[in-house]
Parts: sequence; structure tokens; C-alpha cells
Amino acid sequence: MPFVNEKTYQKYVQEGREEEFHSQVEDGLRKVREEAGSDYPILINDRELKTSSKIVVRSPVDTEFVLGTFQKDDGLLMRNAIKVARDAFNEWKDSDWRDRVELTVKAAYELRRMKYELAGIITYENGKNRYESVAEVDETIDYFNYYAQVLEENRGYVKEMEGRIVKGENGVSVMRPYGVWVIISPFNFPLAITATMTLGALITGNTVVIKPSSDTPLSAFKLATILRRVGFPQDAVNYVTAPGEVVSKVLEDSLEVAGFAFTGSREVGHSLLKSFVSKKPRPAVLELGGKNATVITSKADLKKAVEGAFRGAFGFGGQKCSATSRIFVEASVYQEFLTRFKAKVESTVIGDPRVRTTFLGPLINKKAIEKYRRYVDQAVSEGGRILTGGRVKEEEKTYLVEPTVVIDLPYTSSLWRTELFVPIVLIKEVQNLKEALRLVNDVDYGLTAGIFSSDREEIKYFFNNVEAGVVYANRESGSTTGAMPGVQPFGGWKDSGWTGRNAGGPYYLLSFLREQARTTYE
Ligand code: GLU
Repeated sequence: MPFVNEKTYQKYVQEGREEEFHSQVEDGLRKVREEAGSDYPILINDRELKTSSKIVVRSPVDTEFVLGTFQKDDGLLMRNAIKVARDAFNEWKDSDWRDRVELTVKAAYELRRMKYELAGIITYENGKNRYESVAEVDETIDYFNYYAQVLEENRGYVKEMEGRIVKGENGVSVMRPYGVWVIISPFNFPLAITATMTLGALITGNTVVIKPSSDTPLSAFKLATILRRVGFPQDAVNYVTAPGEVVSKVLEDSLEVAGFAFTGSREVGHSLLKSFVSKKPRPAVLELGGKNATVITSKADLKKAVEGAFRGAFGFGGQKCSATSRIFVEASVYQEFLTRFKAKVESTVIGDPRVRTTFLGPLINKKAIEKYRRYVDQAVSEGGRILTGGRVKEEEKTYLVEPTVVIDLPYTSSLWRTELFVPIVLIKEVQNLKEALRLVNDVDYGLTAGIFSSDREEIKYFFNNVEAGVVYANRESGSTTGAMPGVQPFGGWKDSGWTGRNAGGPYYLLSFLREQARTTYE
């Protein structure tokens, strides 16, 4: 079957059934409220385990609302889970790839069946608006269907070799799994990113211990239970909640861990990688931060550019590693762009993400609010001007801030190079595309980048010279954001990544495999 993206909301709009979409979203949100407050266990093989200390997960949408309590492992259970997953590997590694594809497709059905409940969880857990939450479940379903297809197309990565040195010599290249992978996932895509890394490991015959962000462990819990329910072996899919420091220590000294997959900040990723390989070299899949730029040339359609840059910078409050963080505009359209962009930003509907008209919901937690304040102050104290925004709107029961646009910030400011992960974008005037490109590439990161121009030559020049793993031209739905599986393989260059094989792309699964050359003689 050819791969087709899920695209839920777009389908409802096309069919004129938007009200139905909204009522299903409401049902999903209601279901989450009804089930809230449980104590969710750690899952190791068939055991459900509890610890005496707990992680209490409150919704950033309403901090009085407790989504659930989760266990706070001090490392003991994680080590235990690793041992279990290690034993499980002995069998799982030899499972037929066709069976793994079948389980994956089954899981996609189950995810689809639970679409609105999962979207509701995402909204309550991390504050995403309903369109973004449903899109995240769509993305998750897409990963399942897409990876199933990739494994199928590659016939499980078994390839007969054509060469022969002596008669009767038969060579086969077989891609084999490594063993246990620890999956460390972030708050911003608690379902989709947990899914891409977890499934990447599982479908290729590895086993996993999932460690979600302590801000958003419920989506990952649901994912683990879905995987187990459809038939992935329980001992191959383990789930442990623990503080970040615990994981770092466990990774360092559990030599039984074959690899780890991490999505999060560069600083944490690099430090985990350092401890992980300190005792022996081992593979890791790292999806790190970004300092993504969008260029608007004098040949841009400004209407598109304003919409795309706005969505890129402020979609999910800039809490995406793909967020547009810098905008470079050619001098001849600079003023016009600023005027239009300011008006657009000031029309943002900020508030409760459960409300259908809300575009910008809360930031993830109090720390994010503090960070936002710190960066706004820094921008001003270093000579920048706030074109619009800059204020915290609410920080008691939820964490609302204004989307913020900074102009005239001297290029010496460290903000030009720091990943912010809050809704602040910096804008700078440039003389031409060449200067813009130099600035775009003048950061350690290389994740995503965008350009608005109607000139093919300009776009080609940009694509050929920009140092980034995911690049877009004239993307209105988000100038640097919103990659979808099977459409835009997602991953970064330079400090933004590690393996160079993008998630949701044709080569991703290879990160979880190593080659074995098998030769037999007749
Ligand atoms: N894949 C997402 C996008 O393209 C971003 C993922 C992330 O923020 O880690 O917007």
C-alpha cells in the first residue's frame, strides 16, 4: 500500500465537516478530564511498579488540574528494566521483520482509534492547541505507517551480494539490531517524538526502555501500553519515569545498554553522549536544538512571508527545535515586512488551548516563564527594541506570554546564537541574499531554515549553500517548522544532530542497525 499522510484536520475541512472535528476534540478532552488523577506505574515486562516518591504532573493549561502522578525512580528500576530488555533482545532480535511490520500497522490502527483522546492528553500535558495536538497524533500515525513501509520496501534490509571471488561463494548483507536502546524524549512532542525513536528501535529488532520528559510522561505511557496491547512483547517495551540526572548516571555505567536515542537540548545531548561513550564507544541517535533562520528577499510574496514567519516563530510558543528564531529581511522590503508582521503578531489569540480559536497556549512551566523574562530583559539591555510583545500575561494558574518581536539588536548579542525555546524572534535587515546566507550559517546549529522568494535562482542558491538538514522555500504553514513523516525527513546538521539520518525519512531506521556480512560456501 502506498504511504498516505493522515492529515485529519485538512480532511475535515475539505469535506466541510469541521463541526464534527471539533466535537471529537471536545470528547477527547472530556475523556482526559474523566480519567485524570491516576497513579501511573513504571512498566517492566509484566510488572507494574510503584515507588514511594512521585512526580506530580500538573497541566500548564490549569495548574490546579493534576493529570496524574508518576513514579520517581532513583535508577534501580531503570537498571532492572535494562536487564529485562537485554534478555528480551535474545528472542526479539530474531523475530521475522514481516511480523514487526504487521504489529506496527496494527499499532497505527490503535493510535487512530484513540486519536482524540491522545490529542486531548497532549493539550493537557503540554498546552498545545487542538490543531497542533491532533497534528501530533497524525504525525505519530504517519511514523508507524511510514516505517512499516520502509522496512517492507527494503525487505527487512537483507540483500544478496552479487560479487563472487570463488565458485560457490554466497554473500548476503544483513542489517542487524544492536540490543537495548534507552529512549529519552522531550516535552514538546511527547507522543510523536517518543514514537519515532521508540519505533525506530523496535521495528528494527532492538528492545527499549522509554524514559519520557517528567513534564509530559502520560503520552509516552499511553504509547507504551498501545505497543504492548497490539502485541509487541512486554519485555521488549519498558517504561520508566525518573529525573534526568538519574538517566545520565545509568547510561554511563550500564554497559548493557547498546545505544540511546535522545531529542532535546544540545547541552543535555552532548553531556549524555559524553558519559555514554566514556567507558566504551556506542551508537546514539541525537536530535538536538536549533537556531533556525528565515530569509525574506525583495522578491518574496510578503503575505506568504508574514504568515509563514509568524507560524514558524510562534507555533507552539516557539517551543520547537525547528522554531524560527531569526528573520533576515532584504532592505527594500524591510519596513513593509515589519509593519505587516507586527500587525499579524498583535492579532494572535493567546489563551486557553482548549478553546478552538486559541492559537498560542501556555508555555510548559514556570521555568519557561522565567527564561522568557530573562531573554526579553537581555534583548533590551543589550540595545534591542521590542517591536511588539515582551510581557507575561499570566503566571499563576497557567503560563501565558505575549509573542515577542525584537528588532535592532546588535549582532554582538549572544541571543543571536542561543536557542531560546520561547516565543521570541529576532529580526534584522540585510543588504542582499548573500549577506543573509552568511548570517544564517553563522551559528553552531544547522537544523531548519526557510526562504521566501519568487525567484527560482535565489531559492536554488539558498538551498545549495545553507547549512541545515531541513530547508523550505515559501512555506506558509510555518517557515521552518512542521516537518511530516514521508514528506520532510527531519534532522539537523552541525550541532543540531548526530547521525545525519532524518526522522520520518528513508534512512532513519539504519541508525538502529549494524551490518553483518554473511558468507557461505557450497
Ligand atoms: N518535527 C518538528 C517540526 O518540524 C519539530 C520537532 C522538535 O521540535 O523537536 O516542527
